[in-house]
Amino acid sequence: MAQSAGGGRRTCESCPSIDVRSLQRQGKLREDNWFQVRWSDGQQVRCHSLAWELVFRGPSLGFGATKTPGEQRIKLYRPRCRFGGNRVWFICRCGRTAAKLYLVDDVFACRHCHNLTYRTQMVDASTRAVIKRRAIRERLGGGADLTDLFPERPAGMHGRTNARLRVKALALEHQSFGAMLAFGTMDEALKLQRPAPDGTLKIVATGEKEDVA
Ligand SMILES: [Zn+2]
Repeated sequence: MAQSAGGGRRTCESCPSIDVRSLQRQGKLREDNWFQVRWSDGQQVRCHSLAWELVFRGPSLGFGATKTPGEQRIKLYRPRCRFGGNRVWFICRCGRTAAKLYLVDDVFACRHCHNLTYRTQMVDASTRAVIKRRAIRERLGGGADLTDLFPERPAGMHGRTNARLRVKALALEHQSFGAMLAFGTMDEALKLQRPAPDGTLKIVATGEKEDVA
């Protein structure tokens, strides 16, 4: 059984999960293919891949759609994509499509069915904003230091995607700065201040530099 973290709700990160995208990438989703899924906590299940479903078998699995103990069948949804993509989704027993299913109480289901939360949802708002801003910067090839200049658009990234991420990061920046000001850690907030953008500084006086004693 998965551990709950903090506020009582279990987190997605604390539960064994299967990700249909990585199974797809690894070429596991061929018709009539057997493979095993193992997790670091020692749990494992056998899986039989069929055209439109995956059949999971393991001693700890509860009753699946077939009412066979130790077996759970999960339907796959393969939408036809006009642009040549071959995305595939799990169809959870609630009818939702999901890329990831979590194993809780011996049943694979989506995070809604298991009432799971993401770990980032359990920290306070300003920490959550920092985590998200770092994630955006890393996606753009930047480092973890939030006082560095915002990374440029990486080669190969669509301009619109880049713009969307910049806007998101900017919104989070305000949130985070505001949260720090609101909670009184001014030093932290000041560290995040950027130099003024080009063209916004006005020269109001010129002359010899002179320190008045
Ligand atoms: Zn579900």
